[in-house]
Amino acid sequence: MTADAATRQQRQTEAETDFDAVVVGAGFAGMYMLHRLRGLGFSARVFEAGSGVGGTWYWNRYPGARCDVESMQYSFSFSEELDQEWNWSEKYAPQPEILSYANHVADRFDLRRHIVFDTRVTAATFDEAAKCWSIETDCGDRVSARFCIMAVGCLSAPNRPNFRGLEGFRGPIYHTGEWPHQGVDFTGLRVGVIGTGSSAIQSIPIIAREASALTVFQRTATWSVPAWNERLTPEYLQTAKAGYPALRAKARARPTGFYFPFNTEPALEASPEDREMQYEEAWARGGLPFLGAYGDLLFEKAANDTIADFARAKIRGIVKDPATAELLCPDNVFGCKRLCVDTGYFETYNMPHVKLVDVSRTPIERFTADGIEVDGVGYPLDAIVCATGFAAMTGSFDKIRITGRNGLTLSEKWRAGPRAYLGIASAGFPNLFMITGPGSPSVLASMIQAIEQHVDWLADCLGYMRDVGATSIEPALKDEDAWVEHVNDVSAVSLRSTCSSWYVGTNIPGRPRVFMPYIGGFPVYVQKCNEVMNGGFEGFVLEGAQDSNAAPAVRYTERWRVPLDIDVISPAAVAARRVPMV
Ligand code: FAD
Ligand code: NAP
Repeated sequence: MTADAATRQQRQTEAETDFDAVVVGAGFAGMYMLHRLRGLGFSARVFEAGSGVGGTWYWNRYPGARCDVESMQYSFSFSEELDQEWNWSEKYAPQPEILSYANHVADRFDLRRHIVFDTRVTAATFDEAAKCWSIETDCGDRVSARFCIMAVGCLSAPNRPNFRGLEGFRGPIYHTGEWPHQGVDFTGLRVGVIGTGSSAIQSIPIIAREASALTVFQRTATWSVPAWNERLTPEYLQTAKAGYPALRAKARARPTGFYFPFNTEPALEASPEDREMQYEEAWARGGLPFLGAYGDLLFEKAANDTIADFARAKIRGIVKDPATAELLCPDNVFGCKRLCVDTGYFETYNMPHVKLVDVSRTPIERFTADGIEVDGVGYPLDAIVCATGFAAMTGSFDKIRITGRNGLTLSEKWRAGPRAYLGIASAGFPNLFMITGPGSPSVLASMIQAIEQHVDWLADCLGYMRDVGATSIEPALKDEDAWVEHVNDVSAVSLRSTCSSWYVGTNIPGRPRVFMPYIGGFPVYVQKCNEVMNGGFEGFVLEGAQDSNAAPAVRYTERWRVPLDIDVISPAAVAARRVPMV
């Protein structure tokens, strides 16, 4: 037990010690999994490291945190009643509202009594004889379960670079992904922000309003598109809700799992004048859909150059100091790293007390008692914000000792990069599942839809196993290998694989470079999952089943059996590399 856990442990260890399923994490994935498990009549326990539900939205309380997929779509779609009763206040809801929504879901579906908070799972070990998992926590719990479901999140393990002299800094150091619950008042302080990814670009404009001086340490300039966030009127909500089922259905057929109008025509075939007009219109709509201006933007470098030139001109038009504007202009592929969506980010650099420091050629040398030193120059600071991101996709798995068949640990198996069939399960680890694991669309789709699809698939899978008396399920190694190869092959087609980003793990020193999410498009992936299920869990090995690998009765996955949106993702469009992705 860690000292931390010992001090906060105020409860008895679990009295009940055997469950059908244990779920790790109570973000949207863990909550929805629990809801489905309960619906199936399975006994289940969720362990959550935080003190409340909501995952990402529980931890990331930094100023300006909000979603970048419109709230009407960045929400659960499994319950029409929930869709109708919840009212989003803004196009992109702020973190406190998304957290309230998560709490509402927990209460509405009576989830809390099955969740144990303030408890981190430290180990999960497969018992080959009993065909069940033994799960240990940092509070001393030891429970067993037939199924162990990792709902640990793709962006939940904060990356805290080990800067020299860190401990010697006299002021507070914050990480955006572990923000203090009571908030932080930067009024009158000299603040340093390290990083210029999504978390930084959301928080910088707000911190700048409070701080007496703000210094931003930028290693890579970021592409960002205005959100044009706005309040949602009662009239808008009424109309949108009337069309909610249709919107949800359209979203499921889209490569990103959320709906926005986009153009499959190639940028390279348009005239410069038409392109300019198209980009202006898309910029005026703002947000992630800007990338849907043309179909070839993430496939053809020459096409990408046209949107990059347009966006650079926008930055130069906003930022008054030419040297700062040049520093803020990225030189990598537009949308290669996750595209940012901002409110007043570039404008912030016109404020006289905001300074941009380039750390691309000379990295941050060290922290001193009074601030940060770069290239021999000291920047005096009272507080430092690390907006340095996450050990994405696999970071939270790495922190749990997961031991499968023959003593193999998941960390060992994934040493050269994660390997999982459909991003759902990994050979050698029977009855262990992951929600939005590596090799699934996950972070390249609207995450809540990606989560729902995985959970629904798992619910049908577990229900089937019970029906046929199966005791274990795991991927066949050859099918897993083929899927991993396919995930790699498709990623090579996209320009996204060309730069350094958390998608490929290179934001963390020493990690292997592997493109982790599946970039072939959400509906293509869903179709594959449906086929696997129709084929009686093709590519999986089931043990103990009376009628092994027969086609299951489909219940929850029914709503994912949608035809591909042929306008957007026709085989011809795919072959011509004209499927826009966000
Ligand atoms: P999480 O929300 O990360 O929840 C995982 C939970 O597991 C956490 O609460 C964690 O404490 C717990 N956990 C992990 N390990 C353990 C352990 N060993 N023991 C116990 N508990 C554990 N996606 C979008 O699609 N649209 C957006 O607009 C969007 N905005 C985002 C904004 C921010 C700031 C961030 C960081 C991410 C954003 N994302 C967005 C991605 C976001 O992570 C997902 O949308 C979604 O919230 C993930 O839900 P989850 O339940 O899978 O994971
Ligand atoms: P991120 O995108 O990984 O950005 C981290 C930033 O820190 C990058 O600018 C990185 O520079 C910099 N950095 C890391 N280590 C550094 C070091 N040692 N020295 C200097 N700079 C360093 O992380 P994030 O901003 O937290 O976002 C992660 C993801 O979460 C997003 O991509 C998105 O999917 C999600 N998110 C979404 C929203 C939203 O709008 N809804 C908001 C926040 C997060 P390099 O680029 O050079 O590595």
